[in-house]
This record gives sequence, C-alpha cells and structure tokens, in this order.
Amino acid sequence: MEEKKCIFCGIVTGDVHSHKVYEDQKFLAILDIFPATPGHVIVFPKKHYDSFFKIPDMDRIQLFETAKKVADAVLKGMDTDSFNMLVFEGKHSNKNIVHEPQIHIIPRYPQDGLNFNPPRNRYAEGQAEQVYRKIARYLKGV
Ligand SMILES: [Zn+2]
Repeated sequence: MEEKKCIFCGIVTGDVHSHKVYEDQKFLAILDIFPATPGHVIVFPKKHYDSFFKIPDMDRIQLFETAKKVADAVLKGMDTDSFNMLVFEGKHSNKNIVHEPQIHIIPRYPQDGLNFNPPRNRYAEGQAEQVYRKIARYLKGV
C-alpha cells in the first residue's frame, strides 16, 4: 500500500535522488537532506508503513539492529562519540513524511547548537500515580 506521493518510496525506487549510505533487501539509510548536524542519517524500511506499530515485530527488531550498525559508522565516519536517536510517531510529533518507522541518527559535536533538552517539568501532587496507572495497566495490569 504505497502512497503515490511518498518521497521515501521514491527514494527506495531511485526516482528521488538520495545519498544511500546503507542498503540491504529490507532497509535503507540515507543522508537527511535537511541535516540537523552533518552526518544526520535516516534509517527506514523499504516497505511503506504509515505507523511505527504496523511494521512486523521481527522487521522492527532488524531495523533497530540496522540503526545500530549505521550509528556506529556515523560515529566513526564523523569522528565523534555522541548522537541522538529520534523516532517520530503521530500527528503531534512534528513528522511531515508518513513512511514509518524512520529512525533519525543525529551525530553530536561540541557546540553544535542543538538543544534536545526538553523542559524538566514536575508532576502535581498525585499526578504521577495517575499517569503511572494509565500506562502500566497496559503493560502489567496494575
Ligand atoms: Zn513510502
């Protein structure tokens, strides 16, 4: 169920130019054309999924293994020891291309100007317990 206008599907077929730093039968890693830092790479499945949750579990595992391999190459190639890894899911996540899952590997450098430090808020009295129950009930039946 490929979407006609999906730019990532176009990258897979070669209709859209990209710098493919890694490719195998199932996965592709390309340079992001709008890099947050030099060496910013996106790893994704060749098959089009519109959600992180729709890719088969074994493929998701292999995707993260591929991301590890690519991240290692990014660190060595870009001569740094730091990166941030990001996955976007859902309309509030600032993603603009629905071809999932995309794993962004963003190498970090001294004074690179990026700030991934989200605000450090605090829970109100009793709120953490409520939030804990909302999530944990799906994981351990609390
Ligand atoms: Zn696609």
